[in-house]
Amino acid sequence: MKFILILISSLLLISCGEQSAPRAPQNEIADLVLTNGNVVTVEKDRPTAQAVAISGDKIIAVGSSANIAAYIGESTEVIDLEGNTAIPGFIEGHGHYTSYGDSFYRLELRYDTSFDAIVQKVARAAEGARPGEWIVGRGWHQDKWETKEDILVDGIPVHDSLTAASPDNPVMLIHTSGHGVFVNQTALDVAGITDDTVPPEGGEIVRREDGTATGMLREAAQDAVRASFAAYEALRTPEQIEAELRRAIITAGEESLKYGITSFQDLGTNFYEVDLLKRMADEGSIPVRLWMAFEEQAADMDGKLDAYRIVGYGNNFLTVRAIGEKVLDGALGTHGGWLHEPYNDMPTSHGLNVVPIEEIEYSARLAIKHNYQLAIQGIGDRATTELLNIYGAEMAKNPDKTDLRWRIEHAQVIAPDDIPRFVDLGVIPAVQGIFACSDGPWVEERLGKDRTLERGYIFNTLYEAGLVPTNGTDPPVDEIDPIGSFACSVTRILPDGSKFQPDEVYSREVALYSYTMGNAIAAFEEDIKGSIKVGKLADIAILSQDLLTVADDKIMDTEILMTILGGNVVFKK
Ligand SMILES: [Zn+2]
Repeated sequence: MKFILILISSLLLISCGEQSAPRAPQNEIADLVLTNGNVVTVEKDRPTAQAVAISGDKIIAVGSSANIAAYIGESTEVIDLEGNTAIPGFIEGHGHYTSYGDSFYRLELRYDTSFDAIVQKVARAAEGARPGEWIVGRGWHQDKWETKEDILVDGIPVHDSLTAASPDNPVMLIHTSGHGVFVNQTALDVAGITDDTVPPEGGEIVRREDGTATGMLREAAQDAVRASFAAYEALRTPEQIEAELRRAIITAGEESLKYGITSFQDLGTNFYEVDLLKRMADEGSIPVRLWMAFEEQAADMDGKLDAYRIVGYGNNFLTVRAIGEKVLDGALGTHGGWLHEPYNDMPTSHGLNVVPIEEIEYSARLAIKHNYQLAIQGIGDRATTELLNIYGAEMAKNPDKTDLRWRIEHAQVIAPDDIPRFVDLGVIPAVQGIFACSDGPWVEERLGKDRTLERGYIFNTLYEAGLVPTNGTDPPVDEIDPIGSFACSVTRILPDGSKFQPDEVYSREVALYSYTMGNAIAAFEEDIKGSIKVGKLADIAILSQDLLTVADDKIMDTEILMTILGGNVVFKK
């Protein structure tokens, strides 16, 4: 690895003493110094520096390598950045933390382009699984596979390699249609499916010529396997339920750190999960800093919200101060986003209002009463209008409550008249840069050309109107990778090379700000996170190149070399 760890002796320090650098007071000896780097601070006053001194979990000095040398003592660990770029740790602005962690054990197979890739995923999950634990995946479709296996029966492979990848754990991979499952030998055994099993009516156990089951079970033939899995789930003890949740929490955090993410904003937690997170915060075992929003029925929350409101718990690893993500509407892809005018490609539909307005109004009252942020999903322009109505009405009733920083999650389609309302109400559009590129290929079909141009993914228009720029990927909905979302935020280049709403790109500076300070502001955390500044938490990502200057087509080559969290190196490539 390129980093050189040096313990510089006090002798060497004396020899640099003739530099005109101001000497630090005697007691300010850093625990960690990053030196000789391209430090992008995301601070207006000092946008770049070369070195950072850290004591405990905080930044104590930012400056030139020569100046910061004064903070190096005998006990200081010094990391030579060798010209690499240091930025504030990324903040994921909207995700589903435990679902993301679980996704490594409940496998997402929608994007896999070969059967072998799926087998590899299963092998990885099997490594971390207890004997007998089920491995479940969802979303595969054989038409997406670019390579074909040697043995195919009805166009679908046989289970041999899958069984080899997971010999001790039953595997159930659900087809994207839900009309069939593909399983390994252990699952066949557990479900009692043998060479002689007669399939139930309306079902098919796909077999090779020699009569052995291939692993593919169609329609009613999958019921036996699904019943075995359900029986397994029902048998979990409270200890197992906790163990699996802990595993999801640890995995989600460790994966985040690999991407330079040091804080994660979760939309949709519950009381049970927060109880466990508090215990883990006490143990010091949460891998990344969390900001959690409750997704519970409003009526269940009223009596509990005061006791559950916690800010900066466990050395700033756990904050619970928001109600979200209830969904006012559905997704655009499935014609669920709630629109003012009908869908272009489905003129009978305006989309869906999912959670009743009254329930959101109830949540708004609770948020005001208990001093919580509110963060509700609004995707279509009608949904955003309705949310601004609800938020505005509740705020108007409580004029003494200011700076609430209520958020609208996703904010993908916005009517021009609503932009000044966001500004007036101080509402933050919590957008995901990557969605412009993952949805871009089909948005125009849904909205039509003119409406797309005026209202679709207008993230830079929102920024220029004075709104806080934000970013994220909604993991596990999209890949967690901030580099991908950054690239889309500043290029809007689609997989086919065309551009989607190119006038709505963020500048490089705004994109970096959105993923650091912007997201910090959206969580009331700008005083402790979001920039490399004296007094803030030492949460820093080291990148192989400068996101502010690298060519558009090279952004995706950016590697995360190191992640520092609270002054500790927690990931190293
Ligand atoms: Zn979400």
